[in-house]
Amino acid sequence: MNAPATFALHTYGCQMNIRDSDLIARRLRAAGFADAPTEDEADVVIVNSCSVREKAEEKALGKLGLLCASRRGRPGRVIGLTGCMANRLGPEVFTLLPALSFSVGPRAGASIPDLVRRALGGAERLFVPDPPSAGPQEPAPSGSGPAERGPVQSFVTILYGCNRHCSYCIVPHVRGREESRNPHEIVAEVRAEAARGARDVCLLGQSVMRYGLLGFSWPDDLPSPAGFTEPLPRLLERIALDVPEVPRLRFTSGHPAGVTPELVRAMREIPAVCAHLHLPMQSGSDRILREMRRGYDSEGYLRAVRMLHEAVPDIAVTTDIIVGYPGETEEDFEATRRVMEEADFDNAFVFKYSPRPGTPSSLLPDDVSDEEKRRRDQVLLADQDARGQRCNNRWVGRTVEVLAEGPSLRNERRWSGRTSQNKIVVFEPKPGLRAGDLVPVRIDSARPQTLYGELCG
Ligand code: SAM
Ligand code: SF4
Repeated sequence: MNAPATFALHTYGCQMNIRDSDLIARRLRAAGFADAPTEDEADVVIVNSCSVREKAEEKALGKLGLLCASRRGRPGRVIGLTGCMANRLGPEVFTLLPALSFSVGPRAGASIPDLVRRALGGAERLFVPDPPSAGPQEPAPSGSGPAERGPVQSFVTILYGCNRHCSYCIVPHVRGREESRNPHEIVAEVRAEAARGARDVCLLGQSVMRYGLLGFSWPDDLPSPAGFTEPLPRLLERIALDVPEVPRLRFTSGHPAGVTPELVRAMREIPAVCAHLHLPMQSGSDRILREMRRGYDSEGYLRAVRMLHEAVPDIAVTTDIIVGYPGETEEDFEATRRVMEEADFDNAFVFKYSPRPGTPSSLLPDDVSDEEKRRRDQVLLADQDARGQRCNNRWVGRTVEVLAEGPSLRNERRWSGRTSQNKIVVFEPKPGLRAGDLVPVRIDSARPQTLYGELCG
């Protein structure tokens, strides 16, 4: 019998892509393919791409160029593309990359094993666009999670696409219209993740608080004992009740419009829901926020942050910021610095504005120079370092519950894990400690991104 063909996946971009790659790998294994020991040795390499910034696309194209060139010496090798770029480029991708074997949209991932089989059989330039609706999703084949996250954490997509149309963002163009998954299907998937060892499950959606708000009716057979009426609180409650093996539940990314009294109540009252919210702010300038069509001003944003802090003790709020949006002045930038300080963010991801084809802002002159974008990026990162240190100092001397993940990346003899606030904690393990254990750790020092402590008891 022939050895099974081997595959490797190369993933760019967000958590949703990490999740999609995980599902693709499981589907390929279920279809009889095997993980390649290294990417170089793989018979099939699939690149899962991101279109959010130009740099991410350039990287994926560079990688695909090299992989396609490798087919010259190995004509039987299969090179595939999936993710946002597959949708953005459409069949045109074969003009850019004539040696590409297949390209498939992110909502059509279930067709990948079949495409791989056909490509291994000699078919070339196969293209599968996204279907207009993702429709019900078959349960994911069981199997191990994405290697880089370990078995303890898991992502489950609950909302596809996005209807917000922020002026700079390509996501609605490449990920399609908003579509919520059925809660029964989600609960079943979380249960399957728990069975394979997941203890910290993050529910994903580009604008996750829009879950269940469009073209959707909550099933009558899933009542809410706590009397929640909004779909996301109901979903969180349902998962917590039906899958008690998962002690930690998160959801991302948030939007201030979704920070409702009921959601905040769910975060406070459901013990499994973590004290952490990623709430992208993008800018602190009201003028830029208006231009970005974000649907809130800085005061509205801060009101949402205050509501969270008042209701959920010790909550960590993190954010995304774009620097160098067209027309962003020094004054706008200083407003962002001020509002970031007022929001007291635990962490912030800063992105340099990148015009994306087809978005409204791409029609505006990209008039902040690269050098100035870099400078603003560095200033915000330095501010955030000081703020992160200050936020983390508050934990020194306290004992926190840590979900143990495994040996720390920097020092194999120590372990790392996470708090409910999603803070990384590094500590000395005790014999018998297993990934997935919840352990008390007394924090004795802090850095902007990491806490250090000792196991108690
Ligand atoms: N849906 C989430 C939201 O609304 O915040 C995040 C979507 S996007 C995948 C992640 C982050 O990329 C955004 O929060 C934004 O800061 C950044 N981003 C999106 N478009 C960008 C662009 N054209 N240039 C630079 N950064 C961008
Ligand atoms: Fe893009 Fe805005 Fe949708 Fe986020 S909410 S994915 S930034 S359009």
